[in-house]
Amino acid sequence: MTVYERKDRIGGLLRYGIPNMKLDKKVIDRRISLMEEEGIVFKTGVDVGKDITAGELLKQYDRVVLACGASEPRDINVPGREAKGIYYAVDYLTSVTKSLLDSDFKDGKAVTAKDKHVLVIGGGDTGNDCVGTAIRQGAKSVTQLEMMPKPSEERTAANPWPQWPKVLKTDYGQEEAIAVFGSDPRVYQTTVKEFQKDKSGNVRKAVIVKLEPKKDKKTGRIMMTPVDGTEETIDAQLVLIAAGFLGSQKYVTESFGIAVDGRSNVSTEAGHYETAVPGVFAAGDMHRGQSLVVWAIHEGREAAREVDASLMGYSNL
Ligand SMILES: Cc1cc2nc3c(=O)[nH]c(=O)nc-3n(C[C@H](O)[C@H](O)[C@H](O)COP(=O)(O)OP(=O)(O)OC[C@H]3O[C@@H](n4cnc5c(N)ncnc54)[C@H](O)[C@@H]3O)c2cc1C
Repeated sequence: MTVYERKDRIGGLLRYGIPNMKLDKKVIDRRISLMEEEGIVFKTGVDVGKDITAGELLKQYDRVVLACGASEPRDINVPGREAKGIYYAVDYLTSVTKSLLDSDFKDGKAVTAKDKHVLVIGGGDTGNDCVGTAIRQGAKSVTQLEMMPKPSEERTAANPWPQWPKVLKTDYGQEEAIAVFGSDPRVYQTTVKEFQKDKSGNVRKAVIVKLEPKKDKKTGRIMMTPVDGTEETIDAQLVLIAAGFLGSQKYVTESFGIAVDGRSNVSTEAGHYETAVPGVFAAGDMHRGQSLVVWAIHEGREAAREVDASLMGYSNL
């Protein structure tokens, strides 16, 4: 069994994308060395040194499991988007954690929030990691935009136990913002309408606008729609886009010739992991969409069982 990782170290997203203060990388190293002792071979982009085609993999291996994550970020396509200083959240977080792990920040390769007004677009977990990282780098201020309304602090009658509680959560990044700046960084029902840059092309300000829920006449769906006249211009010298993920990356699915659903997640029969291309399986975020580590572990185990059964005719896994 061989695991290929395109980054220079195994566990690409967990190692670099997730901040060190949230996930101690020793946990990843311990797990990898246990697997190496069991005979699993790990190869990084540095070990391989070149692209390997889908055809080469299918020739060399009897089964291929694709577990490439849901790494295609959702963009914010508004005027001024080309300005310098606007990053996707995972690129920003990766630059910081990689610089920390590689050189204790001595290589100067981390994108820094120091002394900057930071705007984080997206109120989810990834946005929260950006808030926490920017504060620890010494940001002057941090604003986090969330397009949806503020959740209620307690369960509503429409959301009784044992349903998952849809209530306001305040994660470590927001708690740190409250401790450092005295207020919650989240601004609800708001998005960006425009980025403004200086003469050198660096982002300096953002025009933000309030949103209200409105029914789309064609589809009948409720859409968050900008409210005219509510525009406001705020300082933003570093912008971090944490607006969600759009599923798997095309270059992988296209090279294997496998189908994806409307959300760009790899299609398989419900509850199964083999794609329509015999011998090619998919698991984790690439299969179910951006999710959680526990689901990735579950999907990995279930896919392994299906691979085992397809090779052996039965499985004890
Ligand atoms: C910033 C951030 C914070 C998060 N925080 C949490 C959290 O606190 N708790 C939680 O449960 N979940 C969290 N998640 C979600 C969690 O990380 C994912 O659900 C989980 O890692 C998915 O696992 P996976 O193995 O499917 O994909 P990933 O972990 O995305 O792994 C895919 C790997 O494949 C590599 N890869 C991609 N394409 C190729 C290729 N063509 N060739 C070789 N290698 C390739 C990538 O570099 C990556 O290392 C977070 C996600 C992000 C982005």
